[in-house]
Amino acid sequence: MNFTGRRFVPTHPNIVELDRIGDEIAELSAHLDAATARLLDLIREFDTRGGWNNGFLSCAHWLCYRVGLEMRAARERVRVARALGTLPRLAQALARGELSYSKVRALTRIATPETEERLLKVGLSGTAEHVERIVRGWRRVDRKMEVEETARRHKNRALHVYHDDDGMVIIRARLEPQSGAVLIQAIAAARAALWQRASANDAADGPAGPQSVEGSAEPRYQDGSPEAPTIEQREADALALVAETALHRGIDPGAWGERYLVVIHVDAAVLADADAPGQSVVEDGAYVPAETSQRLACDASRVVMRHDADGRITEVGARTRTIPPALRRALEHRDQGCRFPGCGRKFGQGHHIRHWAHGGPTTLSNLTMLCRRHHRAVHEEGFQVRRLPDGELCFRRPDGTPLVESPPLPPIAPDPIAVLRERNAADGIQIDAQTSKPGWLGERLDLGYAIDVLHPAATGERAMLR
Ligand SMILES: [Zn+2]
Ligand SMILES: [Zn+2]
Repeated sequence: MNFTGRRFVPTHPNIVELDRIGDEIAELSAHLDAATARLLDLIREFDTRGGWNNGFLSCAHWLCYRVGLEMRAARERVRVARALGTLPRLAQALARGELSYSKVRALTRIATPETEERLLKVGLSGTAEHVERIVRGWRRVDRKMEVEETARRHKNRALHVYHDDDGMVIIRARLEPQSGAVLIQAIAAARAALWQRASANDAADGPAGPQSVEGSAEPRYQDGSPEAPTIEQREADALALVAETALHRGIDPGAWGERYLVVIHVDAAVLADADAPGQSVVEDGAYVPAETSQRLACDASRVVMRHDADGRITEVGARTRTIPPALRRALEHRDQGCRFPGCGRKFGQGHHIRHWAHGGPTTLSNLTMLCRRHHRAVHEEGFQVRRLPDGELCFRRPDGTPLVESPPLPPIAPDPIAVLRERNAADGIQIDAQTSKPGWLGERLDLGYAIDVLHPAATGERAMLR
């Protein structure tokens, strides 16, 4: 017999069994999503309370290290965890296993407390692909608004300088956020420098105080007035110092290692013995904590001054680098970035494992690269590093516990899925194979229409976003 016409695909003989597996996949995925909600709650709490802030750069770096997440995934978890803190409806839908983590991740890129409700509906009714497309379309509208906003700010930047009747100079400025941030930083740094000079001078003014060898640095606000300067006066002094410094240094930010000049005062009588007391390392500007000046001195320029018994300078040496450029290149090549466990940042400073001021040699075996954050950790926060006889580095926390490069994951129960189901059930979360099924009935997604009815810019709520 010959059959012509339509052919039907026969029903799979194991359809019942396969449907059961499919249901189990859907159900278990919903359980995992519910558990992810709990995980994100914990990450948010850990992040806000600074639980990672014991030698790690961020909560994401800690997650990479402790949980073995890849960096991008770790950053994403932290971002979603933070976002869910202000988006309770999306958080609850994830915790009930109704909305998948993929959808929540996409929706939290655009959702605000004002738009959360309608975006939750999008999440519940659409497939993950619909949600992804709506989020992309939404962001295009956002970006357009952002570009307009940035252009408006850029256009409105201005600086007005004019003279008042009494000869004072009045400055009025509107700066773009990033330029403004730089100015604020510079003024803060100048204020700190002025404060340091003032306290150095106070100390030198004492009746039996040592002679100031630099001699020239007058505090800017020792203007003879009996009262301490106000905050506004200090800010004005700091701004003047920023301007002077910029002109003096040729408006050049300079390379790392050139920014700090370390002046070492050496007692001529004890010079012969490197370990003898009497040597001191003083960072220019002085009176910073010893740990800080040692950190700055680790990788800086230095000048050696020799004193006689009366404290008079007998010899001033040439300016040299504590780590010569060729050795520094070798160090960078060997270490390839920060060596602190779990860090790996590309740029760093050379750290003397045994400080040169304590007789440590400037050799590759006594040096290691550390990023700025971790250089501070070993000098000022009590973290320790030493090199083992086999050449490996050993880092320890301030309490002495070793920091291993990659910690083992904690042991889990023999049947983690049963535990997960029990825990979700105990929390009153009811999950079955239908829990995370979208309400979509197969109609085509009209993206333009969807954005028109959803986005606040299109629905006339633009003012709400400001
Ligand atoms: Zn150091
Ligand atoms: Zn580091």
